[in-house]
Amino acid sequence: MPVTQVPPQDPAPAQFPAGKAALNAKAEGFRYGRILRPSTKVLPEDVRGHNRSLVLQTLYRESRLSRADIARRTRLTRVTVSDLVADLIAEGLVIEIGPRADARPGKPATLLDIDRGASQIIGLDLSEFRIFRGAVLDLDGKILERAEIVVGAATGTEATAMVFELTEALVARTTAPILGIGVGSPGVVNPSGVVVSAPNLGWSDLPLQATLADRFGFPVIVGNDARAAALAEHSFGGADSDMMLIKVGHGVGSGLLLHGSLLLGSSDAAGEIGHVVVGTDGGDACACGKRGCLETWLAVPRLAARIAAAEAAAEHPSFHDVVEPILRDAGRHLGIALAPVVGALNLAEIVLSGPTRFLEGPLADEAISTLRERTMTELHSGLTLRMTTLGDDIVIRGAAVMVLFERLGVS
Ligand SMILES: [Zn+2]
Repeated sequence: MPVTQVPPQDPAPAQFPAGKAALNAKAEGFRYGRILRPSTKVLPEDVRGHNRSLVLQTLYRESRLSRADIARRTRLTRVTVSDLVADLIAEGLVIEIGPRADARPGKPATLLDIDRGASQIIGLDLSEFRIFRGAVLDLDGKILERAEIVVGAATGTEATAMVFELTEALVARTTAPILGIGVGSPGVVNPSGVVVSAPNLGWSDLPLQATLADRFGFPVIVGNDARAAALAEHSFGGADSDMMLIKVGHGVGSGLLLHGSLLLGSSDAAGEIGHVVVGTDGGDACACGKRGCLETWLAVPRLAARIAAAEAAAEHPSFHDVVEPILRDAGRHLGIALAPVVGALNLAEIVLSGPTRFLEGPLADEAISTLRERTMTELHSGLTLRMTTLGDDIVIRGAAVMVLFERLGVS
């Protein structure tokens, strides 16, 4: 299928015919990431790798540090730091950027930084309704190039072919060696990057990570879209280390971070709250066969249909009388579903990601007030609920975080 490119100055490649990928460039960086705690303990044989990650992480977050600065911040010895830095320079990951320009006595220290332009990352978001989006990012997470492909109703191998096509288009747009390809996929994804089940794309037991790695010859990390979004929010959105990101789109999913570690669950499905039945008062039939699942109250197609029907039935449709009650109802059901989770895990923050026209305002207000009604105030007084600040790029950025963490140990 042909790939169409649009001029880089085009700011918004909103819609393209099915099967056409479009590209443009947009530069927007995000703040240096914060530490994401590895979820496994450090073994003695991993100490060198751990120290290497510490040095990289310190430089990634602060940049322009001397070897002595790094030693102080990491509490490693000067000798260890010098040794690690020599290796990182030889690997092309770290560069010397010149002497520190200050008036301290003696020979000025040489400042170091991650070589932020030396490699690039490809991030893909396969979670949006009928469109796959992707970008080329630098190591700071700045988006250098974008591409998207309209998937339409394609599923199965046809949808997989579109992932290949989009990746090819992005690989062709890179201007530096590729550190890795990160992919946020809908559905249940296991730690080996196998999409166990993504019904909307007709994928089951699809080894997407291995297939992409074979085809393109780069390291590939495939993870669940809502988890990728949670990582992005933690690394670049300033989120708390005990947080839940609720991603509302075609379906409803979530990513849970506890003490800075991503929760995976016993069958890799932690955070899959979309098909939890809310309350006992019925509700609409769900695609899964149950009635009143959170998705039936909150998913974008359901909300849009409910609002359209109410507006058509109203004589004088106003936001206050027609739309707001529907959004409040959705928010109340979200609050009911989240209260036991907040109570059990003592979360500090809930972050919503999805269309702001639905989520912001009455829906979010009703969700937080329902949460407060249903949890113990003195235990959860600090709990906040807010929209993500990362907008539509949250999964792409999360996919880049997965690559940074997997390849360099930084986030
Ligand atoms: Zn359901």
